[in-house]
Amino acid sequence: MHLNKNWYTHIITYLWIAIGVSSSVTLLNLFFSSLAPQSFFLERFLFPLLLEVIILIVLKKLIRLNTTVTPYFIIVGCQAIVMILFMVHYPVFYVMLSLFLMPVLISIFFLDLKLIDFSFYLSLAVFVGMKLLFPPLSMMSVIEVTTFSAILVSSYFLSRELTKRFSVVYTDMVISVEKEKELLYRNIYMEKLTKMDLATNLYNHKTFHEYLDELVAQCRKQPFNLSLGLMDLDRFKGINDRQGHGNGDKVIATAAAIIRDNLEANDFAARYGGEEFAVIFTEKSPEACLEILERIRTDLETAVFDTMPDEVVTMSIGFTPFTPKMSKTDLFEAADASLYSAKKNGRNQIQCAS
Ligand code: GH3
Ligand code: MG
Ligand code: MG
Repeated sequence: MHLNKNWYTHIITYLWIAIGVSSSVTLLNLFFSSLAPQSFFLERFLFPLLLEVIILIVLKKLIRLNTTVTPYFIIVGCQAIVMILFMVHYPVFYVMLSLFLMPVLISIFFLDLKLIDFSFYLSLAVFVGMKLLFPPLSMMSVIEVTTFSAILVSSYFLSRELTKRFSVVYTDMVISVEKEKELLYRNIYMEKLTKMDLATNLYNHKTFHEYLDELVAQCRKQPFNLSLGLMDLDRFKGINDRQGHGNGDKVIATAAAIIRDNLEANDFAARYGGEEFAVIFTEKSPEACLEILERIRTDLETAVFDTMPDEVVTMSIGFTPFTPKMSKTDLFEAADASLYSAKKNGRNQIQCAS
């Protein structure tokens, strides 16, 4: 498992704390040591401290790279610090032996069995190496070595079992988070289904009325610019008859796309009926709304359909700005009446009622 850099920083902080405690204890011992203060200071304090700081700085740089082998570097760095601490505090090596458990314990952070194996074998190899080469450890009796090895081995198996357990819990958690996410997406989709017309990606009839109800109520309390445009494709039955229903559907989708492309953030477009659309404008002067509607009308008129290049599709538009004395029905009927006069006047035009 990859840890984020935050966790690596935690581990490095623990190591800094270990070094800090160790160095402070060493400094205190300066007064009680039988060694000459100068050589004690250099050999037990300064030199080990320098080495430890260098190791931690190198580890920090490696963490920044954050590759798949970064955890292994951390374990090796940690093991090196353990060795130094052990050698500095060897007079109390019975206590310090517990440090050999540290790399294995730190590797639990990564929930990676291979890394735990690596840490265990590294600790074991370093322990055996030091037993052979480091004089104070050579004094350990067989029974002491066996006892310590048993502790190391049990910590190893315990770490493996903990990791397995954590991995199961982690996997369960990931699965449940995924399920929750899926449910959320499905809910959003369901909500979209109830609000939108999926063929055109415009709002549906029901949402249009809900939104208009709300806006009219608000506008009556505190007036603001509110206008309604109703659109109906011209002689659409003829297009269906000549070009087939499939092409008719494409025309509806294209008209919807043209409407969407011309609207701004505050505008609201709905597929009001089969080939009828409605646009609600807020915070826009009637002139600005009419400009937009005119662009929509000409964009559709000039649109070329690759499956029916000779077909010119047009729409008629009725437009009405809202006045506070109007009810929602008044507004809608006025826009519808304008649409009707646009049709009567020869289609492919905007009629405005005010
Ligand atoms: P007008 O200019 O007076 O509006 O003439 P029109 O032929 O467009 O008349 P009207 O608006 O009454 O006709 C709408 C037609 O649109 C009727 C119906 O068959 C067709 N229609 C409605 N919904 C769909 C749809 O989703 N796909 C297709 N292809 N046709 C549809
Ligand atoms: Mg119609
Ligand atoms: Mg029509």
